[in-house]
Amino acid sequence: MNAHDTGERSYDVVIVGAGAAGLNAALLLGRARRKVAVLDAGEPRNAPDGHMHGFLSRDGLPPAELLELGRAEIARYGVRLIGGRAENISHESTTEGAGHAFAPAAEDGGPAAEDGGLAFTVRLAGGQVLGARRILVATGLRDELPDLPGVRERWGKDVLHCPYCHGYEVRDQPLAVLGTHPGAVHQALLLRQWSDDVLFVRHTLDLTPEDRNRLECHGLRVIDGTIDRLAVEDGRLRGIELTDGRTLPRAAAFLFPRMVPQDELLTGLGCAKDDGGWVVTDRTGRTSVPGVWAAGNVIDPRAQVVTAAGMGSAAAFAINGDLTEEDVQRSVKRRRPGRPDSAGPNSARPNSARPNSARPDSARSEAAHQNEARPEGVGR
Ligand SMILES: Cc1cc2nc3c(=O)[nH]c(=O)nc-3n(C[C@H](O)[C@H](O)[C@H](O)COP(=O)(O)OP(=O)(O)OC[C@H]3O[C@@H](n4cnc5c(N)ncnc54)[C@H](O)[C@@H]3O)c2cc1C
Repeated sequence: MNAHDTGERSYDVVIVGAGAAGLNAALLLGRARRKVAVLDAGEPRNAPDGHMHGFLSRDGLPPAELLELGRAEIARYGVRLIGGRAENISHESTTEGAGHAFAPAAEDGGPAAEDGGLAFTVRLAGGQVLGARRILVATGLRDELPDLPGVRERWGKDVLHCPYCHGYEVRDQPLAVLGTHPGAVHQALLLRQWSDDVLFVRHTLDLTPEDRNRLECHGLRVIDGTIDRLAVEDGRLRGIELTDGRTLPRAAAFLFPRMVPQDELLTGLGCAKDDGGWVVTDRTGRTSVPGVWAAGNVIDPRAQVVTAAGMGSAAAFAINGDLTEEDVQRSVKRRRPGRPDSAGPNSARPNSARPNSARPDSARSEAAHQNEARPEGVGR
């Protein structure tokens, strides 16, 4: 995975997580000629699934192939991809003259923070340390599955959770919804869209009379029984075995996992959370901590692959705009009296190797757009 590892240590943006969200952000930022590193632990959420659905033009593609294509695309724009886990991110606001530990000197045209800019230090599990002016966390979420024999073995194959991802593939077949989480009721009601034969196996879930009524009126059968195990034969699900000895023959089972955001890096930085325990952001993914963005499942459990990619794209726009604004402010500050040409294009340039990087006009309109989009209480 270190295919594009150049050994650099200082970046405009470090992205943690190379799933759809992180890779799409990297693609845009690389194309914006930013210096970008992407860190990835290589455990995307949908890895157990053989086929990804619902992504325009990529419907049915194996998830690993999408990521492979994405990695090849970001390589074209010089983005550095590092295989490994980020353990910790710390931040500091630099003061004049006290640049980031990994900041190349400004006269070298380096991208790291200086003159009151933001600076972050990212530590990898292997001890490597990177510096960055901005951070994007796209680390996804973890599905915690009920501890029932057969569930983990068949997860992503014929034990499923998302009707929009897999419902069509099991249409018109005998299905079960396992009552292991309150979200299972809504999931079961949705599934009637794909099959007339859906059993709701109550298991440990306390169904309210209203829930039971809604399920039955919508054509589902409620089974009062506790699940012992899933019957798996010849590499496929055959049915649901109950503790009372009954077996319910089923072709596929749906369950609602407990979705846990992998947001330790964000909480470690002090990012605010909502009452449900999810990190809050504005529409661009900007968190409550200046310079820190988040995208994909780490902040939104509903995000499918295409949504996560879109969130990465939105974050990349905002991050590039934010960096450009910082570069412009620095250029203005540096303009010396009596030397009107001293704040010309060369001094505004964030990296001397990238002659077209600084575009003050578009940066201003981008910054204005972001300020409009930022809800109260979030962002700077
Ligand atoms: C079984 C299953 C099937 C699915 N099928 C579909 C489908 O058909 N269509 C669809 O649209 N969606 C599907 N989804 C949902 C899909 O998985 C998510 O929408 C998508 O993975 C979200 O992308 P992401 O970039 O936010 O996170 P992820 O794809 O999970 O990527 C996050 C990456 O960050 C890495 N990471 C985490 N922590 C660190 C760290 N500290 N340091 C470095 N790297 C780190 C992880 O290893 C991982 O590679 C499915 C989900 C499951 C569970």
